[in-house]
Amino acid sequence: LRFRSGVHDAEDPLSVEVAQQLLTGPLAGLDGADLRQLGRALREEERSALREVPAEQRPAVRPAGELIREALAEPERLVLLGGPAARRARELGLLLRKVRDLLLGGATAEEALWALWEASDSWRERLERSALRGGAAGRNADRDLDALCALFETAARAELRAGGPRGALNFLAEVEQQDIAADTLSGRAVRADAVRLMTAHRAKGLEWRLVVVAGVQEGLWPDLRRRGSLLEADRIGRDGIAEPMPQSALLAEERRLFYVAATRAKERLVVTAVQAAAEDGDEPSRFLRELYRERPDGTRVPEVRVEDVTHRPRRALSVAALVAELRATSVDPAASPQLREAAAERLARLAALEDEDGLPLVPAANPHRWWGMAELTENEVPVRDPQRPVELSGSALESVNACSLQWFLGREVRAQEVSSGAQGFGNVVHVLADEVGAGRAPADLDVLMARLDRVWDALAFDAPWKSEQEKGEARAALERFLAWHTGQRGRQPVATEQPFDVELKAGPYAVRIRGTMDRVEREDATGAAYVVDFKTGRHTPTKAQVEEHPQLAVYQLAVREGAVDQAFDGVRPEPGGAELVQLRQPESRTVADAPKVQHQPGLAENPAGPEWIEGLLAEAADRVLRERFVPTTGDQCGHCSFRGSCSARPEGRQVVE
Ligand code: SF4
Repeated sequence: LRFRSGVHDAEDPLSVEVAQQLLTGPLAGLDGADLRQLGRALREEERSALREVPAEQRPAVRPAGELIREALAEPERLVLLGGPAARRARELGLLLRKVRDLLLGGATAEEALWALWEASDSWRERLERSALRGGAAGRNADRDLDALCALFETAARAELRAGGPRGALNFLAEVEQQDIAADTLSGRAVRADAVRLMTAHRAKGLEWRLVVVAGVQEGLWPDLRRRGSLLEADRIGRDGIAEPMPQSALLAEERRLFYVAATRAKERLVVTAVQAAAEDGDEPSRFLRELYRERPDGTRVPEVRVEDVTHRPRRALSVAALVAELRATSVDPAASPQLREAAAERLARLAALEDEDGLPLVPAANPHRWWGMAELTENEVPVRDPQRPVELSGSALESVNACSLQWFLGREVRAQEVSSGAQGFGNVVHVLADEVGAGRAPADLDVLMARLDRVWDALAFDAPWKSEQEKGEARAALERFLAWHTGQRGRQPVATEQPFDVELKAGPYAVRIRGTMDRVEREDATGAAYVVDFKTGRHTPTKAQVEEHPQLAVYQLAVREGAVDQAFDGVRPEPGGAELVQLRQPESRTVADAPKVQHQPGLAENPAGPEWIEGLLAEAADRVLRERFVPTTGDQCGHCSFRGSCSARPEGRQVVE
């Protein structure tokens, strides 16, 4: 289009838009900033020229787009302007003029294309560099070069039919009308054992055993629009401009074309069309009914089978769907051995297909490309140094034992999708709870909300409404926190955000547990240490799960190992228990302003005995050191980011099947 409009300005004047497309295309390679700079320079030039005109007669300076268009048509104007943008615009203008003169002098479309190509040194070099470098840019360059070759071949064919401006117009009309890439002139692209896809025009003179004429819809076939209607190339005759073709002649030509397509089949012809349910929807072409004559007894001459297909195909009609079905059949235990074998054979045939360059045509059919078929690799660098204690946090312990694969992907590979909004919510509420617990902020909701307001807009939420909704939730969470904080619990706070780092023996392993306790309190009655963990998530464990909650138990273990001695004036307290304070969850339907509190008894009172948590630590350390991260399904799958690639889940079955 750029080529046509730029060259044939007599019939199709160079518009502002086309001029800009040409300048920002590969021939000139300008970008938006270059265009703006060029436009500014041209406007400045025109403004200077207009200063000579008396003020009362002086017209306004024209828009930059119009000046650029004019400069491209008269490139000499650009000589006086400095800068690379003006230089490249001038070179392009001169080149277009040269090509136009060539065409007017009787050159063919192919010769015109060669002139354009030979004058495009920098584009040629760019393409060559990118193609040799490879990668995504290289693939794009290869694709552009392929497209150029196809363009030259089409131009060569147009040349066979007519030269000069008529040939160029034919060529342009042909390129514009192409929905399907034309056959190449070289025979090597035609494979005997492949389906050939082409227009009816191109099928002339050829024959196949089976021919499918697809999409024979009324409106498309016959297509009674005038050919080349934009340029009206069809009207250019030997003796000047001819009358447009009448509709009846167009219809007859379309009918002939359909006849050509339908008679290419030596053995079997399949014609398809869509019949929409709605009256004014798609309907089959009238030509379809002309394929046969119906006798009074309902039989057809010739014998044509008309099949109404009202259902969707069993599988999508694509290579990917075929490969998927063959793969599934080849391992389906319910299929007969013969069927499985046949599916495997077909896969092998598909995998062996190659294009002219020796590249596989259906790489997905090759088992080497299938997930789950590769041998397990060995990791030369261990996930954790076996000579050092295994480091685990309370939450990591829970995660390793629930599903070690989820732990590995989430914590070690760091592939976990984190909702930054949810994380920000939790952080803000925890910080405010810490401020109040440590006495740095009053237990006053208005004060806390004022602080929250100051930072809230910095949190990333997906949408403004989500931010508003979460802010309401944050207010409710702070309200519940204050209700809990100011309530009577028979305990006094002694530390907030208490860090701990203790090393202990768990079975044969040395384990280092580290983390931070949201709050540590002293029980009035016993003097024991009680650990509180504030939760801001939506998930609430059951009562039974809380009794064996690994994170709370690890906190208690840390207390037993001396993690909070300092907060208790150097005297080691007994771990008296721990609790989860669910700030997003109301205590009950009727008590919405107090949080749900879930208690874990002291380690000594735990029915499973204090050893169970050490057993859990030993199990987790063993999994981490042996590096067998296998999926374990359970409640944790409900909010797992890796379900789509987890072989233990239906969503991730494609990984191994
Ligand atoms: S989906 Fe379930 S089994 Fe799979 S990795 Fe996630 S938590 Fe583990």
